[in-house]
Amino acid sequence: MKQAKQLVASQRAFFYTGQTKNIEYRIHALQQLRQGIEKYQQRILDALHIDLNKSETEAYNSEIRIVLGELDFALEHLMEWAAPRAVPTSAVIPDGTSTIYPEPYGVALIIAPWNYPFQLAFGPLIGAIAAGNCAVIKPSELTPAVSRLTNDLITDIFPEEYVAVMEGEVETSTALLKEKFDYIFFTGSTGVGRIVMKAAAEHLTPVTLELGGKSPVIVHKDADLKLAAQRIVRGKFLNAGQTCVAPDYLLVHQDVHDKLLEEIGEEIQDKFGKDVMGNPGFPHIVNTRNFDRLSVFLEDGHALIGGRSDRDQLLIEPTLVGNVDWDSPVMQEEIFGPILPVMTYDDLNPLLAEIVRRPKPLALYLFTQHEELQNQVLDQVSFGGGCINDTLSHMTSHYLPFGGVGESGMGSYHGQQSFEVFSHHKSILKR
Ligand code: NAD
Repeated sequence: MKQAKQLVASQRAFFYTGQTKNIEYRIHALQQLRQGIEKYQQRILDALHIDLNKSETEAYNSEIRIVLGELDFALEHLMEWAAPRAVPTSAVIPDGTSTIYPEPYGVALIIAPWNYPFQLAFGPLIGAIAAGNCAVIKPSELTPAVSRLTNDLITDIFPEEYVAVMEGEVETSTALLKEKFDYIFFTGSTGVGRIVMKAAAEHLTPVTLELGGKSPVIVHKDADLKLAAQRIVRGKFLNAGQTCVAPDYLLVHQDVHDKLLEEIGEEIQDKFGKDVMGNPGFPHIVNTRNFDRLSVFLEDGHALIGGRSDRDQLLIEPTLVGNVDWDSPVMQEEIFGPILPVMTYDDLNPLLAEIVRRPKPLALYLFTQHEELQNQVLDQVSFGGGCINDTLSHMTSHYLPFGGVGESGMGSYHGQQSFEVFSHHKSILKR
């Protein structure tokens, strides 16, 4: 096994040769990465099938396509992002000019989770390379086929002193976190985010933490219910609910509860068939530990839709649970599975107060045409990002920085922001 210390030392030495700062070098590296992904595409799809039972369509659309889109966007704009930025100079220094120079931090550590194991390792890597850094990727041990494939792909295209993969379990992360990195980009749970930030503090290493949390979806009485049902089902049951920005719980106005549930039931059948358990393309739960954790929630309240599960196959069918309240076990932690608790409301105000009282969500989704209500929610509730009359789509735009706030994370990336997050901005006043 590679040693963390030597690896970081060799990357730092390589960084100081200055090669990775060269824009042509970065562009060439991004092109190599693109070719590598194309060459390994079938293996990526196979690995995602082995680890999570993702169908080829789902795996391509929610992992490979997103990474390729980010790559192409970076290739198209890198020259302008990396150029020095002239800014005005204050009038008290009339003979001065001011410029901001984006520069790479040095050696970056990228720690990835298991739920989108390809996208969440390679997406941040694009930013690290574009900004001119070296990088070490630590994939999740819970998706071993993708972890191996990540190692093979990267080893095939990059020298270890530039980009390397260190596979392994928690001890590997722990060993890496003891080393001094120049930037740490972590995606995973809030609990491990705290561990990462503590370790980073030892070396005063800046961090981005892309964490999780409970993201509400609110459906008001004036919403287009068919559309809301379609978009909630897509957002909630993609990857069997194992999506950081999946709607975690549903708050629906009491007047439209029955109709919305009817629409959601129909949409689930349309999308996954009458017997989801027999649908070979429905992703499974990542392991028995998570399956058992989720099974407890199936006992919470009562199933309004679905409710069946199969431990041998690690399958849980899309399930909506009623008869729950803010104190129910299912409302105490991020669900991260295909279970959606439903609560009704009459007055939105106490509901918003309850959301604000809790940790800031990673995402929030609101279905209403009512502009005043949209503004009220945006004004009162702090959350990472989200959608009005949709779910998940905010994270697919190159123009919307993606990240959490408070316990759902700090910092953001995607599009140009991926370049910025891996860059230090050196401000120079010249006289
Ligand atoms: P996790 O925190 O358990 O693991 C993430 C990574 O950290 C893995 O590589 C793992 O090996 C490593 N790790 C685990 N324990 C560690 C420790 N004690 N010390 C150091 N490293 C350790 O998260 P997960 O279960 O892989 O992913 C699920 C979580 O990630 C959910 O909370 C989800 O919301 C969140 N998530 C967030 C985003 C986002 O973009 N904000 C995206 C995907 C997942």
